[in-house]
Amino acid sequence: MHTGKIGVTTENIFPIIKKFLYSDHEIFLRELISNAIDATQKLKTLASVGEYTGELGDLTVDVKVNKKKKTITISDKGIGMTAEEIEKYINQIAFSGAEEFLEKYKNQTNAIIGHFGLGFYSSFMVSDKVEIITKSYKDNSTAVQWTCDGTPDYSIVEVDKEERGTEIVLHINDESKEFLEDSKIDELLKKYCRYLPVPITFGTEKEWKDGKEVDTKKA
Ligand code: ADP
Repeated sequence: MHTGKIGVTTENIFPIIKKFLYSDHEIFLRELISNAIDATQKLKTLASVGEYTGELGDLTVDVKVNKKKKTITISDKGIGMTAEEIEKYINQIAFSGAEEFLEKYKNQTNAIIGHFGLGFYSSFMVSDKVEIITKSYKDNSTAVQWTCDGTPDYSIVEVDKEERGTEIVLHINDESKEFLEDSKIDELLKKYCRYLPVPITFGTEKEWKDGKEVDTKKA
């Protein structure tokens, strides 16, 4: 195991994210699903140019809510990340001049998120703690688990994970309990997940395809 500090140039980005994106908490799901889809599309591209020669298998992105544990999990079977890639893509956030920028654009949350590539960090708007459990598509990769509780301190440990891809586990905070309701997730999937190139499943029965709910039991 090793621990470290997320590379931010401001003291702590999390209060800033919470403060400025307050009105738009629900976008976390759109951002995480969009990362899952990107990772899946990247794997398909690598396969199409012969850089990935393994089985693609079922590439469905899965969203699960566990009300008891107060978690939402978004899983994909995309390219995954190595420990080095987590360090590079998740821990090192280019955040210089952030406060002034956020002040200027505080009513334009999409501009803020886009500018800083902060999509993943929007998960901290609704979570006390976020875990990334991921295994790269690369040969002989070791799966790793990154954990961060909303301070710039994170930990990273090796874990067992059979399948390639990434699981993001959100430990939902008390103010965001509404997102543990199936009906709320249904509503957000309907709103944000139209016309995606990869199927999404939520729960065990429902599948989302082209903005429509498909009952996989009946299909
Ligand atoms: P952006 O998506 O705008 O680059 P994010 O903060 O959402 O910014 O993500 C940062 C990076 O972390 C991504 O560019 C990608 O390299 C990596 N990443 C995030 N989610 C995943 C995932 N599910 N699978 C693989 N890599 C991911």
